Amino acid sequence: MRDFASELEQRKQAGLYRTRRQISGPQQPVLIADGKRLLSFCSNDYLGLANHPSNIEALRNALPEIGLGGAASHLVCGHHDAHHLLEERLAAFTGRSSALFFSTGYMANMGVISALAGRGDTIFSDRLNHASIIDGCVLSRAKVRRYAHGDVSSLAAILAETSGHKLVVTDGVFSMDGDVAPLKELAQVCRDHGALLVVDDAHGFGILGPHGRGSVAELGLSEEDVPILIGTLGKAAGTSGAFVAGPAVLMDYLVQKARTYIYTTAMPPALALATCASLDLIEHGDERRTHLQSLIERFRQEATVLGYELMPSRTPVQPIMIRGNREALALSQALEECGVLVTAIRPPTVPEGGARLRVTLSAAHSHGDLNCLMQALSDCRHLLHRKDVVS
Ligand SMILES: *Cc1c(COP(=O)(O)O)cnc(C)c1O
Repeated sequence: MRDFASELEQRKQAGLYRTRRQISGPQQPVLIADGKRLLSFCSNDYLGLANHPSNIEALRNALPEIGLGGAASHLVCGHHDAHHLLEERLAAFTGRSSALFFSTGYMANMGVISALAGRGDTIFSDRLNHASIIDGCVLSRAKVRRYAHGDVSSLAAILAETSGHKLVVTDGVFSMDGDVAPLKELAQVCRDHGALLVVDDAHGFGILGPHGRGSVAELGLSEEDVPILIGTLGKAAGTSGAFVAGPAVLMDYLVQKARTYIYTTAMPPALALATCASLDLIEHGDERRTHLQSLIERFRQEATVLGYELMPSRTPVQPIMIRGNREALALSQALEECGVLVTAIRPPTVPEGGARLRVTLSAAHSHGDLNCLMQALSDCRHLLHRKDVVS
């Protein structure tokens, strides 16, 4: 039998071993992690809606009316008014003809990609796409061609030499780098080469564009430009689930074919109503987004002055590039000793030699919170230049 224990030991030696922290109480900047009070800069709750009274109240009001359990899959008898209402609201919000609600973003990507491409087809995938996109490509059994991150001209070249059905898939905002895909150019090459474009805007939805409509709306791209738009609801929306939006015929096709939509229990419908309340908060959330932007700008300026290497990101995802796994872990541990929680992100989540501290900012952070982060980063700056840090 395979020696699982020694594989774990090897991971520890390589600084790749992963552990979980146990959180008590709600998700918010001041977090109780393993019983310790820390100021967190690593959640995806970008607008501070994960513990907002409005969506909590919507959930509480819904429960006595419609109960708790999803009880069945959507195609049996689980498709509730509440899910349907959320789909209509998401379609209107994103300016799409229709939308389909999935239980998670992981499932949305797996289901959409494997439904829209199959054996004999070709999927073109950005090298830095999220794991759920990579897994969706594998599940589809299509031929997969990965193109250099954001490199539209090399994508155009490989599209030109490929015949048959073509799917191009990209993160809108890249989850570990925080940069935005060149969506306008991608839409153009997809049009030129007859490829279907899929954009996963998990980190742009709620944050970028007018009223937080996302990275695709920020560029004014229509349903014709980006036929398949995916968004997740566990990040800026602060609840749970995901959606796919686009032409009605494609949503209908997904209802027939997306296995992660068909063969799973519908999410508790009351949660869909909580998400509707989140959508109201997002739509009227310009003040939150303006505050978030001011935190982002301050962080970038001050971290650069301290000598930290940032990446070209204008989103709440602000990685500090470290490269070495152990070095990234050591900095994360040192920050924790200063009362600040920023987890180290290591391969295979990021490329080999690309370990980083993924700092995320939230509208729930105050400028005082940011002061604490900057002080901690200042206190830990000596770790940047040490090559012999703890293993
Ligand atoms: C988080 C994430 C997902 C997965 O969404 P969940 O709802 O958390 O399953 C999909 N795509 C990207 C780009 C993500 O960052």
